[in-house]
Amino acid sequence: MAILPVLVTPNPILRRKATLVSVVDVHIKKLLKDLEETMVAEDGIGLAAPQVGVSKRVLVMDVPANMTIDGEEMEGVDADQNLYRMVNPEIIWVSDELSTCQEGCLSVPGQYASVTRPEKVRIRYLNEKGIVCETEFNHLQAACVQHEMDHLDGKLFVDYLSSMKREILLRKAQRVER
Ligand SMILES: [Zn+2]
Repeated sequence: MAILPVLVTPNPILRRKATLVSVVDVHIKKLLKDLEETMVAEDGIGLAAPQVGVSKRVLVMDVPANMTIDGEEMEGVDADQNLYRMVNPEIIWVSDELSTCQEGCLSVPGQYASVTRPEKVRIRYLNEKGIVCETEFNHLQAACVQHEMDHLDGKLFVDYLSSMKREILLRKAQRVER
């Protein structure tokens, strides 16, 4: 495994649409492991392959299932399944209900903003064994998986803001020392 450098805005790879993975082979398995190790090293809760310069539809996320969007722990929710490794994820259902979460991004260092997204989503993806899985997410996991999937389409959380606020945050992010 390896810790990879995380690209920051305005790197053009972050704005590229990532390509589908044809088969979950040893290279993709290594990429998943590297993403996981880099996410842990960077103290992130999710990381998408374009953020380490690999324009493929691959992501990892590690958010406790019992975590609300405000980062509070909920009682009575199983927190065991936290780590997800996804290849070619697609959103197959979203709830009508929306929720607003304070988001940040390793590729937009030091900047945070409120983003409103569907509260629940169902995602179909291949896991690290190449098996088709379907999982419904809510709370912070739902916000995180949507944020990471945006990276696969070259989208950053600041794109949900007004153009003026977006420009300010992107400019500030470029001045942050990493
Ligand atoms: Zn991000």
